[in-house]
Amino acid sequence: MKRYQRQILLSEIGASGQQTLLSSKALIVGAGGLGHPVFQYLVAMGVGQVGIMDGDVVDESNLHRQVLFSAGDIGKNKADCLKDLFSCRDEVTKIVSYPYFANKKTALEVFPDYDIIVDGTDNFQAKFLINDVCCFLKKPMVFGSISQFEGQVSVFWKGHGPCYRCLVPDVPKARIRSCAEAGVVGALPGAIGSVQSLEVLKILLNMKTEGRKLPTLTGKLQVFDFLEGSARTLTVPIRPSCRCQKSAFSVSDISEVEVGHEACSMGGEIKGLLLDVREPEEWDAFHVEGSFHWPLSRMEVGEIPNELLGKRLTAVCVSGSRAARAADILDEHGFAIGFTRRSIYGFENWNQQKGATDANGI
Ligand SMILES: [Zn+2]
Repeated sequence: MKRYQRQILLSEIGASGQQTLLSSKALIVGAGGLGHPVFQYLVAMGVGQVGIMDGDVVDESNLHRQVLFSAGDIGKNKADCLKDLFSCRDEVTKIVSYPYFANKKTALEVFPDYDIIVDGTDNFQAKFLINDVCCFLKKPMVFGSISQFEGQVSVFWKGHGPCYRCLVPDVPKARIRSCAEAGVVGALPGAIGSVQSLEVLKILLNMKTEGRKLPTLTGKLQVFDFLEGSARTLTVPIRPSCRCQKSAFSVSDISEVEVGHEACSMGGEIKGLLLDVREPEEWDAFHVEGSFHWPLSRMEVGEIPNELLGKRLTAVCVSGSRAARAADILDEHGFAIGFTRRSIYGFENWNQQKGATDANGI
């Protein structure tokens, strides 16, 4: 136990708290920028079993913030890669990798085995899915979110406080830019993921240890602005009309995720012209043969190409949020067209028959 000695010295943890951690199981969904610090600290602090779930593969553009990966890992599955990196250097924690994306089926299979679920994802659909499955299983979800220089952390837990849908009832109509588009500074997920790992520690200790309860972010949203150098904590009330308040929260209340592999398996045929609304450098890195490229940023300033007139379209981006915004803009311009929101990586996967998507990790 010498390796945990400095932690055991803390009266809030002690030897019994350390034993609690060693008998606990935490699952991290998303082996990206947030997943890395959460993973390394949960393993180092002595959580007994740490699961890591992600169907994505390492890309060169991940390396500035997903610091446990190196150039030699490009193309490898992220979850398997983290497991391989740490299994040989930590004999206390059992590390389990799930090299596929979270969807309703896989989440319902894997989540029940864990005490707590950590959100390391970067899109609303995935967060709704984690939230819903956690509500169904009454497990705590440690939420994290980052963009550019700002990050947020909270704990959502049905029966103890609000759920994520109490805060965000549905995918916002307002323009929300993903990390691929808006950018993110490399150390930001490191800071936010570290705060998430501290919340995991506190909740695990509160769940299983007698005595003084440690204050957690259940029902609170901590917002860090690293550009301004400010941090504030907001209260998140339970929304009485939220689905989490239903007395019988059932499997049918769980969201179907629309990202990653799911876009491939659920989407069926491409309807009409495939409209790719990502930025030029993303298009250059990969695009589907025969698709039409028009970045959302140009639509935002009112530039709509004539080629789209009267066409039936399927819009794609990375997570689906930009495609949804493109659909709104075209609708505002009077385009009465059938629109489907899809992840580009569903098509990449379709073409290449391999698990290349970044629906999960930031
Ligand atoms: Zn709720």
